[in-house]
Amino acid sequence: MASDIRKIQCSLEAERQRLLDEQNQLHANGLPNTERRESSPYGKREEAATESFELEKRLAFERQIEQQLADIENALAKIAAGKYELCESCDKPIEPTRLQALPQARACISCMGHHKGHFLQHHAGNLPF
Ligand SMILES: [Zn+2]
Repeated sequence: MASDIRKIQCSLEAERQRLLDEQNQLHANGLPNTERRESSPYGKREEAATESFELEKRLAFERQIEQQLADIENALAKIAAGKYELCESCDKPIEPTRLQALPQARACISCMGHHKGHFLQHHAGNLPF
């Protein structure tokens, strides 16, 4: 069991690193379509529309990454505290099959079944249940 958690911890850390790299890349790239602008100096209005669409897409992507990072940080903190397998809602162990499918799960299946609306409401639908 302990080695399983170690494995999960490794994969969560790898995933966190991947997300951080992605985040850095997003920030390093600046505006997403700089090249496009250089290759098409005309049609400014059309470009502005494309740009704001690209920006919106990028922001949504960034939010998604931040959210995933938060879930992973949360799971890693639980591992560090020795509470990884415990449901955050009822403190009972989360089903191992559920954790296999979703290593950053925060609540057990029965809590999710009963309190899905409650959870989603309080976390603005950001949890990966
Ligand atoms: Zn529970």
